[in-house]
Amino acid sequence: MFKLWPFNGGVHLPTHRQESSTAPLSIAPLPQKLIYPLARRNGRNAKSLVVPGERVLKGQVIIPADGTMNPPVHAASSGWVSGIEQRLLPHPSGFSGSCVVIDGDGMDEAVAFQGVSNYAAMESDDLRGKIHAAGIVGLGGAGFPTAIKINPPRQFNVEILVLNGAECEPYISCDDSLLRHYAHEVLGGALIFMHILRVARCLLAVEEDMPEAIAALELAKAEAGYGHIEIVAIPAIYPTGGEKQLIKVLTGREVPADGIPAQVGVVCHNVATAAAVHKAITAGEPLISRIVTVTGQGVRKPQNLLTRIGTPISELVEQCGGYTDSAQRLIMGGPMMGFALASDDVPISKSTNCILVAGQAEVVGEKTPMPCIRCGACATVCPVNLLPQQLYWYSRASNLERVMDYRLPDCIECGCCDVVCPSHIPLVQYFRAAKSKMAEKEKERLKADHARMRYEARVARKAQEQLEKAESARRKKELLATALSTSKS
Ligand code: SF4
Ligand code: SF4
Repeated sequence: MFKLWPFNGGVHLPTHRQESSTAPLSIAPLPQKLIYPLARRNGRNAKSLVVPGERVLKGQVIIPADGTMNPPVHAASSGWVSGIEQRLLPHPSGFSGSCVVIDGDGMDEAVAFQGVSNYAAMESDDLRGKIHAAGIVGLGGAGFPTAIKINPPRQFNVEILVLNGAECEPYISCDDSLLRHYAHEVLGGALIFMHILRVARCLLAVEEDMPEAIAALELAKAEAGYGHIEIVAIPAIYPTGGEKQLIKVLTGREVPADGIPAQVGVVCHNVATAAAVHKAITAGEPLISRIVTVTGQGVRKPQNLLTRIGTPISELVEQCGGYTDSAQRLIMGGPMMGFALASDDVPISKSTNCILVAGQAEVVGEKTPMPCIRCGACATVCPVNLLPQQLYWYSRASNLERVMDYRLPDCIECGCCDVVCPSHIPLVQYFRAAKSKMAEKEKERLKADHARMRYEARVARKAQEQLEKAESARRKKELLATALSTSKS
């Protein structure tokens, strides 16, 4: 029996997984349009490698890499670049940004993909390079570049690979679908990670209410003889799938609040990332598709679809039979940590795991908020051991010093406190707003620091110039005096 270590807090939520997971996995038709934002993680825009009127092939790099933090972006199908246009971005800000737009030509003509026949003979750095060049980022939602995550700082002794198949947020079933249909690829990806990281142990966590996924994994493990990968069924408590919570549950180790898993000897990846790595290394195919759950009362046929990245949401919803009359809100991600979209003309990004078309009954946080009654329920469920009611007071008052005292940056925005609050206070909204203000203040501080440093450098340069001028004048005077005294004598 595998020993599990419970984490504090968390809530039991209805999974709503069966709405989408009972339908078979569909392959979305070739998109008519593909949209790729040029915005980078650092907020700057990349320069497109393609121009309007140009034909592109599936797998062609259209947006170049910029350091390891910004892997390249590849076209997910063949077609013609119709423009570089301002489009709504798949981002909580609701901002628009410059995007490469491709009209699909229905041919799906690809560049030549070249896989590796024996990755075990390759050096870790070379494999990391291939993963970066394939544009792979974490597919669990955060979208952090995978090549960086599998290159932990050397001072930490990593000994366990954790694969996260704990799909704990309600409605989302893309990982369940992936594990049922692509278990061999996930396990194959785990072996590649283990080779790169030089670790001997892999724990693959799946929620106990995903019996078909567990059976598929056990079967694939037995068929391939991967006895050293342990499939672990974990309790279905939200947010067990949070990286730090999962590591605690599986190993009993606590990742420091502002630390990384490698500090406790663990590297953690989502199961879909493992499958993408397997495809990139063995078949040479970059990250151009992923499984997306389209679900909720607002869509006629909820299901999971193998989707080309860049496909507009409108095309996916159409594939699911269109909207129902009860459709109220479009959410990218799940109901707890997702964000609302103003339009369905937004593309699926690499980190889009779910499109929730919420009906009226599914919209979270619609009840009228009432005053806090200091019941403490929010603190009981916080998986990070914060005091949400205190954070609420100070976030509401925009007291950014006090929210720091109460560790606002540690909040993972899981929404557990929102769910249990009897006063229906949208706590996470306040926390997000306070975090944005903190980020803004930090940006201002950096700008001010930069301006101050520039001013100080200018003053120092001027002072140096004055000194040099004075020194030069003194030397001239000396030379003149020497010349005068020589001529007199
Ligand atoms: S759960 Fe709501 S009402 Fe209770 S202490 Fe927290 S914020 Fe206040
Ligand atoms: S949203 Fe933040 S404060 Fe609320 S329970 Fe989650 S981690 Fe704790």
